[in-house]
Amino acid sequence: MLVATPIGNLGDLAPRAVAALAEADLVACEDTRHSGRLLAAAGIKAKRLTSLHGHNEAARIDEVLELLSSGGTVALISDAGTPLVSDPGARLVEAAARSGAVVSTIPGPSAVLAALVVSGLGTSHWRFEGFLPRKGSERRERLARLACSDETSVCYESPRRVAATLAELAEVCGPDRRVCVARELTKLHEEVWRGTLGEAVARAVATEARGEHVIVLDAAPAAEAAGAGELVAAITRLLEAGLARRDAAIAAEVLLGAAHRDAYSASLEAAGRPGGRDPGAPGTAPAPPVR
Ligand code: SAM
Repeated sequence: MLVATPIGNLGDLAPRAVAALAEADLVACEDTRHSGRLLAAAGIKAKRLTSLHGHNEAARIDEVLELLSSGGTVALISDAGTPLVSDPGARLVEAAARSGAVVSTIPGPSAVLAALVVSGLGTSHWRFEGFLPRKGSERRERLARLACSDETSVCYESPRRVAATLAELAEVCGPDRRVCVARELTKLHEEVWRGTLGEAVARAVATEARGEHVIVLDAAPAAEAAGAGELVAAITRLLEAGLARRDAAIAAEVLLGAAHRDAYSASLEAAGRPGGRDPGAPGTAPAPPVR
């Protein structure tokens, strides 16, 4: 049973979650001290509490499956919010489902949905980025994809890195793109700030970031996204014809008169699509940096 717990406000722990945590034969959590405090505050006496985190998840799987197969119940929680959402548990769920065990959930708080719905930005189509890679080409590629996305994007971010991430987003998306920075949701110092990336950068320089942050970024303007869509389609065809991603990006840049940055972003998008195989992916020269 996957049980969501509050992202700050204890009042958000659902009655059904309280019952499941009290009744489970085993409550698996990331940090027993942290979750022990939550259980105590909610007046729950768990039968057994054990740790299941990024480093021991694989080792815990057999034990959990054995308990499930003998008719026991297991509740999986994370430090906050919904387990598996930028938190451990995916390998356990996969193994449990494969073993034929019933996997169910008591849904509830999650910072990604909370931030998205208060952002004032589009909610029909959106993408969850989790935490962006910290550095290097992987980070540049993810930022480039966000810049041309025709969907709202949601990223988790630490207070230490939020200013740098906003600055890089402003660089790749331009300063006028709308953004929402949601901080400390459901907590005493909850703050939902809305504006442009340019304003967000100026604000981040002037104020010290504190607490947990979610960045919600508006989709690329329709014209940009449509242009990007055409570029992606052209580059997908070039990849299907056997060109390496880098060459396909250069061809599109030259033949369609696209900006280098846009062709590069579109080539990443195309390579990630079905049919958008990147024949030159392993062992080829690194992707060209955005110039
Ligand atoms: N599983 C959690 C969920 O469902 O939201 C997310 C876990 S992830 C390790 C932690 C990140 O979620 C934080 O770094 C922050 O970006 C975001 N987050 C969690 N609680 C938050 C809150 N109350 N306000 C804003 N962001 C929050």
